[in-house]
Amino acid sequence: MKFGGTSVAGTEGMRRVARIVAAAREESPVVVTSAMAGVTDTLAGLLESALHGGAIEDGVAGLRERHLEVARALAPSDENLPRRLEELFRELRVLLRGMRLLGTTTARSADAALGFGELLAQELLVAALSGEGIRGRVVDAREVIVTDDHFGAARPDVAATRARCAERVRPLVEDGVVPVLGGYLGGTPEGVPTTLGRGGSDLSAAILGLALAARRVEIWTDVDGLLSGDPRVVPGARVIPEISFREASELAFFGARVLHPASIDPAIQGGLPVLVRNSLAPEKPGTTILQEAPGPRAAAVALRRDLALVRLRAPGWRRRRGFLERLSQRIAGHGVELVHAWPGPLGIELLVPGGRPAETLDAILAGDGERRAEEDLVLVSLVGEALASRPGLWGEALALAAERDVLRVVQGEGAISLGAVVRADRADDLARAWHGRFVDEEGEDER
Ligand code: ASP
Ligand code: MG
Repeated sequence: MKFGGTSVAGTEGMRRVARIVAAAREESPVVVTSAMAGVTDTLAGLLESALHGGAIEDGVAGLRERHLEVARALAPSDENLPRRLEELFRELRVLLRGMRLLGTTTARSADAALGFGELLAQELLVAALSGEGIRGRVVDAREVIVTDDHFGAARPDVAATRARCAERVRPLVEDGVVPVLGGYLGGTPEGVPTTLGRGGSDLSAAILGLALAARRVEIWTDVDGLLSGDPRVVPGARVIPEISFREASELAFFGARVLHPASIDPAIQGGLPVLVRNSLAPEKPGTTILQEAPGPRAAAVALRRDLALVRLRAPGWRRRRGFLERLSQRIAGHGVELVHAWPGPLGIELLVPGGRPAETLDAILAGDGERRAEEDLVLVSLVGEALASRPGLWGEALALAAERDVLRVVQGEGAISLGAVVRADRADDLARAWHGRFVDEEGEDER
């Protein structure tokens, strides 16, 4: 069970999470916690400040007060908890002062400092569990999740992590204790602390689930699950009960922002279902992500707004060796996201975020040939395994898009998604039409 930063932010959040864990105690949960909301950002800011010789004491004092206050509220008579927190803050100060003194940091020392939010949160969560009559114990994830030394985005070694889990996590579970691990944290085989990259706690949970051969992984956040559409646009939008991993990945690419599918990939590959659930509404079932979830209907409609189509006229580009590679490298080098590209005999069309990125792209392409850009476009996407398994859906979906003056079409990986680039004033209408026809339960019956 992994709890995100908003779920564990503050005393009430910690208590709520403890009740959720308590309700699952019969199933022997292992808990992963993020830092309280905003803490990792604050730490990153303090690191920056230290590097430039700026002030760090106030920032550290703010974090200290915030955590001690929660500690006092959760466990007023526990004297060890504040002591452990103070110890962590001492270490943090030493690290930050070192960086300020040297005016430089290494990725290695940055990782050591960035993980403090999780080190603090895990202590508080154990106290909250104890308030619910649950015996929790902090387990140092830096000694369990074994990673390479790619600091800032370390990659876990599943086999090594499995061995550490057998040693340090499983015995606790067998004793009826709930292990609590900070997410985001790892360590090299030699014990040097690493982090898995921002937002890495989901990956922590997926790796632990896999290494422990858990029945499932639960990602607890502050939304009800993955939605079948944007409720502000699509009246019938609802939480998707079951979705395939491929569908969830396409959805994330096309604009849904609940979780980063790559981070749960290890769990899915290992055959574990991943549940997305709301810690503010634990009675709701949430969304279950499965390796396969064949449904007769499409899963969702997503909108990605404010895009631009830039056409580069370059006849004969196919005969220029490495043209596409150079082009995409230049685009990436300028930090412009390439949403999609259509290569043709006379040139290439590129779909990119509008505004500055489109202007940048225009500048990059200057000299390459005649350019033409169209702004204020929306990519409306229909996502569902059903699109691949029921070929008739394609024609119908395309026809509905054509009625709304579709400009370009995008087919997703595995043919499980269909995207239509339309002008902004047609987008919502297309989203509603597709959702009503292919996603809503009341849509036409399966054939
Ligand atoms: N606390 C870390 C972050 O904010 C990791 C996480 O929350 O997943 O990036
Ligand atoms: Mg976070």
